[in-house]
Amino acid sequence: EAKSAGRDTLRLYTPVLEERLAERIALGQALRRAVPEGQLRLHYQPLVDRAGACIGYEALVRWQHPERGLLAPGAFIALAEATGLIDEIGLWVLEQACSQLAAWRDVPAFAPLSVAVNVSAAQLRHPEVVEQIAAVLRRSGAPAARLTLELTESMLQQDVEDGVRKLRALRALGIGLALDDFGTGYSSLSYLKRLPLTTVKIDRSFIRHIDADGQDEAIARAIVGLATTLGLRVVAEGVETQAQFERVAALGCEAFQGYLFGRPQPLADVAA
Ligand code: C2E
Ligand code: MG
Ligand code: MG
Ligand code: MG
Repeated sequence: EAKSAGRDTLRLYTPVLEERLAERIALGQALRRAVPEGQLRLHYQPLVDRAGACIGYEALVRWQHPERGLLAPGAFIALAEATGLIDEIGLWVLEQACSQLAAWRDVPAFAPLSVAVNVSAAQLRHPEVVEQIAAVLRRSGAPAARLTLELTESMLQQDVEDGVRKLRALRALGIGLALDDFGTGYSSLSYLKRLPLTTVKIDRSFIRHIDADGQDEAIARAIVGLATTLGLRVVAEGVETQAQFERVAALGCEAFQGYLFGRPQPLADVAA
């Protein structure tokens, strides 16, 4: 009887789980074709200085799925990591961003702009990642100093020493290194000291209520103070209103990103 009850319970769950699993497998198979079939897109979101002038962009990947339309990274990056496709996708993103930087290099109005690219934990674990990134830079002719890699705290949970060694090698090439979504992960403070960072990005969860919540403001103030003392540049993410901008600028933050200044969009739209 217990057995049949168990079976009934299973019957309730199985079709849903099976459907989800089948969906995931289908999405993974479609993702395998995304790079070779040219279905990935890069959108660029501006970063601005205290005067509101554009100083660069963050490159954010999208997938133009043949049936489901334009997918945000939240719909496929975790799957790319789980299936190992992230290495190929990450290199594609880096190549696009670097060829953009190379094209801007000789245009005086664009030459000072930098581009930030997100790198996931799985990519950093690839044994050849440093050589791969160095090769993309060389082939493209992009100035390394205009490229920033955005990392998250989760990326170093597995082998910190290996990660630190690779990041030092990347930093030695002249590439900037930003700690993304700062304040949301673990061991934040020790990473600030251990990693060869150039930039810290305050997570948008602290910016969202910064003009109304004294605790969020206190956290943002502490992050800006600490990072500045350590010689790091601070970027505030997710700035949506003028009030948020003024509040975080008053804390001494130097660079800002968010819908107030521009949404991620294709480069043709950005240039216009
Ligand atoms: P992230 O690196 O923290 O990027 C910022 C995310 O916040 C982007 O979402 C951006 O569209 C969104 N955002 C920017 N300003 C605002 C704002 O004012 N308000 C709100 N509500 N949101 C804002 P998106 O493009 O969906 O990307 C999500 C995440 O996916 C990124 O978070 C990054 O972790 C990851 N990702 C994006 N592109 C890549 C990539 O090429 N490789 C890897 N490994 N991860 C990527
Ligand atoms: Mg980022
Ligand atoms: Mg971020
Ligand atoms: Mg974020």
